[in-house]
Amino acid sequence: ADGLPTDYEIAQDVDTDHITEIVEPLGLAADDLELHGDDTAKLTYDAIERLRNSDRDDGDIILVTGMTPTPMGEGKTVTTVGLSQAFNQLGENALAAIREPSLGPVFGVKGGAAGGGYSQVLPMEKINLHFTGDLHALTSAHNLISTMLDNHIKQGNELDIAVNQVQWPRAMDMNDRVLRETVVGLGGEVTGVPREDGFILTAASEMMAVLCLADGLADLKERVGRIIVAYDEDGDPITADDIEATGAVTILLKDALKPNIVQTVEGTPAFVHGGPFANIAHGTNSLIADDAARKLSDYLITEAGFGSDLGAEKFMDVVCRLGDMEPAAVTVVASVRALKYHGKDMWPADLDALDDPDPEAVEGGLENLDAHVENLRGFGVPVVVALNRFPGDTDEEVDVVLDHCREELGIEAAESTVFEDGGAGGTDLAEKLMTAIETNDETFDYLYEAEAPIQEKIETIATEIYGAESVSFQSGARDDIERMNDLGFDDVPIVISKTFHSLSDDAEKKGVPTGWELEIQEVYPSAGAGFLVALTSDVLTLPGLPSDPAAADMDIDPDGTVSGLF
Ligand code: ADP
Ligand code: MG
Repeated sequence: ADGLPTDYEIAQDVDTDHITEIVEPLGLAADDLELHGDDTAKLTYDAIERLRNSDRDDGDIILVTGMTPTPMGEGKTVTTVGLSQAFNQLGENALAAIREPSLGPVFGVKGGAAGGGYSQVLPMEKINLHFTGDLHALTSAHNLISTMLDNHIKQGNELDIAVNQVQWPRAMDMNDRVLRETVVGLGGEVTGVPREDGFILTAASEMMAVLCLADGLADLKERVGRIIVAYDEDGDPITADDIEATGAVTILLKDALKPNIVQTVEGTPAFVHGGPFANIAHGTNSLIADDAARKLSDYLITEAGFGSDLGAEKFMDVVCRLGDMEPAAVTVVASVRALKYHGKDMWPADLDALDDPDPEAVEGGLENLDAHVENLRGFGVPVVVALNRFPGDTDEEVDVVLDHCREELGIEAAESTVFEDGGAGGTDLAEKLMTAIETNDETFDYLYEAEAPIQEKIETIATEIYGAESVSFQSGARDDIERMNDLGFDDVPIVISKTFHSLSDDAEKKGVPTGWELEIQEVYPSAGAGFLVALTSDVLTLPGLPSDPAAADMDIDPDGTVSGLF
């Protein structure tokens, strides 16, 4: 828009350096890397081990989260990449760590997920498509369990698996809603035992969560082995170990576990690794990448998916707890368009109208931003708001947000123009974050104790983060909780799976919904990942394509030039 070159053109214009040169200032040598072309590398296990054992201080973690977004996204990835560039422009040693894009959203609504404008990671086309094959490896690993499970049932079912108690759907990395629910095993005796099945997106698979929480191959293998894939006729769990899938599945993931390193358009290094959904899983890039990146930098900028209610809460309560880390500061990305989206009573939202200047509508949306800021302050971490400026935003609209944060919330806020200006557009934000970290006198704390009863943990998240008045548990969910207690799988963190379109569980409710009840339908263990998932009614584990999918506007010329991908 406005004469700015497209993301693709910007990316094409950059002369990338060889990845070995990019990581050299970090103290990484060529033999710490497994090259995937000139511009991408995986970090070797030896290098990871060496970093883990080094006595260098860990860098400060800055978490990038956001207010409740519009369906287009408000720029968390752009801000994460831009901020890492900004720190480098200020002479600081900083790294970004973000998730790997899923093909589902790439071809659906959002387009690419490698940042945008002058804050992108490169090679963006490769990163958005097959990259180093991690997503494909995960899909294969996931489905290997499925096929071994159905084969076990077909070959006599020695484990006495209850056919309608299979807990492991199939997975694919494509938004193909017709496969959400299906029947498998048709075709008579030779094919297998017919049963209801379904597909989920690879990003929603427990396998993805497992990969993103494992600290090495041994831990990965243990986690895979613990995954509960079904229950037997007595109601006892059947694990991946029980169906003898652990070894083969781990083999399929042995390279996918190694973090990918690429470069930003400004030639600073960035990790892009793992991509769990923030609604059904924990929504941040891999711990193994964070661990390595912290040892290589003074500031690690990392993104948590969707709003603070989803990715950030999970980052704090699940990832930080399991990974033994804590954020030094948080930045909440707000956009004028998202504020308008919450400030106007319009649903289904007229997304085109969001481009019209309307400071009053912006003001109307501030309560949503406030709720996210309050959520984050509750963790005892300093918060700085980043107003991600889009081309059509007016000064008046921007000032509404900045003034509000400083005057009403008493926190720092900075305009960020990293999309248009690269790192230079984020130095104000970076400086404010550094000051916030230096002057912070609060102590980070989780929202709840892992040892609290399951029901109580869910209620705490629902009332304190989502703003629910109460929580109701359907009878199935109550049975699930009882089973988790019996299995001794109760003293783990909770991942509530909820829509990202609203702070509430109802996508149509904007702003800060009050007086509502969160309904929990089902609670199931992600025993490999090490958390419980509590499902609300509005969850899509396999989204569909919109009426005008991004894919329909994509093309490739005979010379290989791609268009419409971003
Ligand atoms: P998130 O990570 O919060 O979902 P992204 O950073 O992926 O959001 O941004 C969503 C989309 O909006 C991307 O296509 C991105 O290129 C675009 N975008 C983000 N910030 C800006 C901006 N300031 N100006 C124009 N486009 C932007
Ligand atoms: Mg993102």
